[in-house]
Amino acid sequence: MRRKKKWDYYKNSDKAMTQKTNNNILEVIQVENLRKHYNGTYNGIMALKGISFSVKRGEIFGLLGPNGAGKTTTINILTTLTPPTSGVAYVNGYNINTKPDKVRASIGLVFQETTLDTHLTAEENLYLHALLYGVNKKDFITRKREVLKLCELWERRKSPVSQFSGGMKRRLEIARALIHFPKILFLDEPTVGLDPQTRNKIWDYIFTTKKQKGTTIFLTTQYLNEAEACDRIAIIDYGKIIALDTPENLKKMIGGDIITLRTADNEKAFAQIKEKLPQCKIKRIGKEIQIEVATGEEFLPSLIKTITPKILSLELHHPTLEDVFLELTGRKIRENNTPDTEDIFSFNLKSLLALFKNNNHKNTNGH
Ligand code: ADP
Repeated sequence: MRRKKKWDYYKNSDKAMTQKTNNNILEVIQVENLRKHYNGTYNGIMALKGISFSVKRGEIFGLLGPNGAGKTTTINILTTLTPPTSGVAYVNGYNINTKPDKVRASIGLVFQETTLDTHLTAEENLYLHALLYGVNKKDFITRKREVLKLCELWERRKSPVSQFSGGMKRRLEIARALIHFPKILFLDEPTVGLDPQTRNKIWDYIFTTKKQKGTTIFLTTQYLNEAEACDRIAIIDYGKIIALDTPENLKKMIGGDIITLRTADNEKAFAQIKEKLPQCKIKRIGKEIQIEVATGEEFLPSLIKTITPKILSLELHHPTLEDVFLELTGRKIRENNTPDTEDIFSFNLKSLLALFKNNNHKNTNGH
């Protein structure tokens, strides 16, 4: 009997995957034990140390991690720009090792750096891309209008890209990546280096693309508030996935809300809380009392009623993804955080998210 060769294994598993895809499987990306070793000085670098995960059809999936964690390497492997050292991944049902052309035809990709031809106009850049992907002329005309309108560049379609700002270029890159109707859109740190307003706009397009076309979005980010906007996130650190879930579940992992309290007589307040509110975890840290409860807002009225010493300060802290990362690694995700920009952006993104969810809800209810 003929021995099964490695190729047979690939062929058979590819067939099985394609069948599964045709049957509308939920997982449009499946990653199995991917490793990537870059050769270099000494022993080189093991950028990915065996990562596995899957991405569901139609979700916004984020890969969150600090600089050098392995995010770009992962996206480069999944989009067939670099081969893995070992392991396999299926994108839209196609094996990245054996069917790279099929993978490429079914995805859109936005790189971290601009890859537009700045001597060409916006629409010429789209046309070139459409030619490469074999989009027919009729489809191109309707699609060009659609994607340029989506990214608010329709009025500037005849301008050379050299006259565009950084934000406009990034928007055009998204439009270009969508021109051939990809099932999955890969975005490598799509908003890095952009001002908060442009970052919000980019997110607006991401939500709209998902909503209108059901496109699956796979993105990498080092911004915590962007990770919050994803349906699920994988946290990657030193080439390993250290957690994967919805942002809400990840935050639940580290416990409840934290209330930090200072009173005129902490000893007395501490004793009163311990006696009358035994359901909370309480400890004294320096001049403060720290209380951990499931839902801070619900607990605050009874706390205020219970303690008699004058309250000097009271702070309610909901767990953040930063707390999750800190809990898992003992480090902050970005040592040189820029809180001002993040805060403004966070505020705007939250409003945008609320608006989006609201509209979505209305649509599904047929309003
Ligand atoms: P991230 O996108 O999370 O910042 P990368 O995937 O770019 O991380 O890099 C992961 C690790 O692999 C880093 O230590 C980086 O220096 C290294 N690396 C990335 N690309 C190469 C390359 N082409 N050659 C050698 N080392 C690389």
